[in-house]
This record gives sequence, structure tokens and C-alpha cells, in this order.
Amino acid sequence: MIVDLRSDTLTKPTPEMLKAMFAADAGDDVFGENKTVCELEEKTAAMFGMEAALFLPSGTMANQTAIKAHTQPLDEVICDKLSHIYNYETGAWAMLSGVSLRLANGTNGILQASDITANILPDFDWNPNTKLVCVENTVNKGGGAVYPIETLKEISAACKQNNLLLHCDGARIFNALTTTQSNANVLHGIFDSISVCISKGLGAPVGSLLAGKKDFIKKCRKIRKALGGGMRQSGYLAAACIYALDNHIERLQQDHLNAQKLGTALQNCSLVKSVLPTQTNIVIFEVDNSQTFAQLLLQNNIRVQPFSPTQVRMVTHLDISENEIKRVCSVLEKL
Ligand SMILES: *Cc1c(COP(=O)(O)O)cnc(C)c1O
Repeated sequence: MIVDLRSDTLTKPTPEMLKAMFAADAGDDVFGENKTVCELEEKTAAMFGMEAALFLPSGTMANQTAIKAHTQPLDEVICDKLSHIYNYETGAWAMLSGVSLRLANGTNGILQASDITANILPDFDWNPNTKLVCVENTVNKGGGAVYPIETLKEISAACKQNNLLLHCDGARIFNALTTTQSNANVLHGIFDSISVCISKGLGAPVGSLLAGKKDFIKKCRKIRKALGGGMRQSGYLAAACIYALDNHIERLQQDHLNAQKLGTALQNCSLVKSVLPTQTNIVIFEVDNSQTFAQLLLQNNIRVQPFSPTQVRMVTHLDISENEIKRVCSVLEKL
């Protein structure tokens, strides 16, 4: 059996989740008539202290819809150089929103309020208008780094002071909340919008949500439709997401413990040069050649993701058991 540590998107629906999916409403969500989708949207909005939420097919569509709704052409968006929005969303901000990005230089993708203020452009004819800030929590490319709540509050205050909107790419926000040992309540009032992936470590097959003010979400519904993201009888997918929110948040702790074990084993592995701090379910480490390292592990029935020519990523999730982690650790010891 192969232990596949490439991504937390690889989880399979559990039998209980599939059962919940079969019981979903079959109404048409483009007409706003799917009860299960409405329930998921209301549940998510309430969790994050937002007026409304929207169910979308992917985290990329959620982030890009938020950027489109918050900006207009000639605007500029500040985000970290490691951000998913910059690195892994096909440059869609340029295609869809006609905005520019200004890359800040955080620590493992974590920004400070001073990184925001330092990147605001003065209002000259030749400058784009600084309009939106996007933070990512946890930071995928930063080894799953987590924002301290205090830092988010400081960034939020800096944004308000400078008339900037603040979006959170919260693809793994529940991993972040697990590490800070807090409830989503602590985030209320901090962001103008937040995107959340249920198809990562929470284990749903498909689906992300975007939450924000009522007017903002109304605009996003239209953008989602324009992008082809109106999913009709999407209650079957929404039911899986509701099940995941009800049953798979508390167990994230186990994924984090497993990731820490991997982190420690990697630190003791002779082929590994360094490991980023392991705060959540992502472990990123440095080797001479990531392709060669991945091949070597594959010969031992372990699949990992080469993340750059010299970086490798491992991700834990609900389909990776403690025993599988033990096996990976013992292989790493022998390398
Ligand atoms: C996975 C991910 C997304 C969205 O990805 P999709 O594959 O489009 O659902 C967005 N941000 C971060 C940080 C992610 O890890």
C-alpha cells in the first residue's frame, strides 16, 4: 500500500459522509432553491460572524471571485510572495480582474501590519490604487505557518486606517484555529471576506465557501455565475461539507501530531538539510534534489510532492493513519 502524502485534497469521503450526501435536497441552487446549500451557507456565515456566504466549486474560484468583487481595473492587491493567490491560481487576477499584485516579503508567508503600510502606494497618476490586502492562513508554501490572532487584528486595523479591504484565503483556516486553540469567533470583525476550503483536510470531495457582507455576496453570486460556477443541484456536495464541518474539525489535531512526527523524523534524516517549523498539517523541507528524493521515497511506497527543485512537501490528513506515519518515519530513519 502506498502512503500518499502529496496533498490533503486526496481524502476520500467516509461512509458516513456519503450517507449524508444521499440525504441532500435536490433543489436548484441557481434559483436559490437548494435547502442543503442554503443551510451550508448560513452555517458558514454564522461561524465566521459574516452576514452571508456563498458555496463555490473551488478555493481558487472563491479567492478570485473575492478579488473581482472587491476591486476594479487599475487597483492593486497586496499579498505575500508565497501566497497561493500569486503562485497557484494561474495569474487569474490579471485575466479576470485587471488588477496588479504587489508582493510583500513576509516570514514563511506571515505578514505584519508594517508590511502592509510599507506597500501602500501614494496617489500619483502613474500608480495603481492600493485597494485590497490578501492574507493566507495557514500559509501553504510557508510550511503551513499560522497567523497569531493579534497580528491579524493589527493588519485589520492598518487596513481600516488606510481604507483598504482585507480578504483572508482561509483554505486551511480550521487548521490555523486548531493550532491557536481558538474558535472561529476570534476572527469576527477582522476580515471583509474569507474563503474556506472544505475539500482539504476536512475531507469533503469538492467545495469552498466565501463569506462576507450581504451586498458583497450578492455581487459574488453574479460573478460566480459568470465564471460558470452555478452548480444547480449542488446540495449533494454541500451535504458533504456540512458533515465535514460537524465532524472533521476536532480531529485535525491528530493530523497536526502526525505532521510533527514527520517533522522530527525529517530533522534526523541524513538526506534532509532543513525543515520549516511544523505548526499544522504541512511539512516542507529542503533537500539537494526534490525529484531524486521523491523517487527514493516512491521506491519505499511513499508518495510526496516535489515543491521546488530543492523543496519537498508532505501533508497529513484524515486518510493517513498513525501506523502509516510510523512506517514513513522508520523509512526516513533508514535513508
Ligand atoms: C488549495 C488552496 C486553495 C484553493 O485551491 P482549489 O484547489 O482551487 O480548491 C487556495 N488557497 C490555498 C492556500 C490553498 O492551499
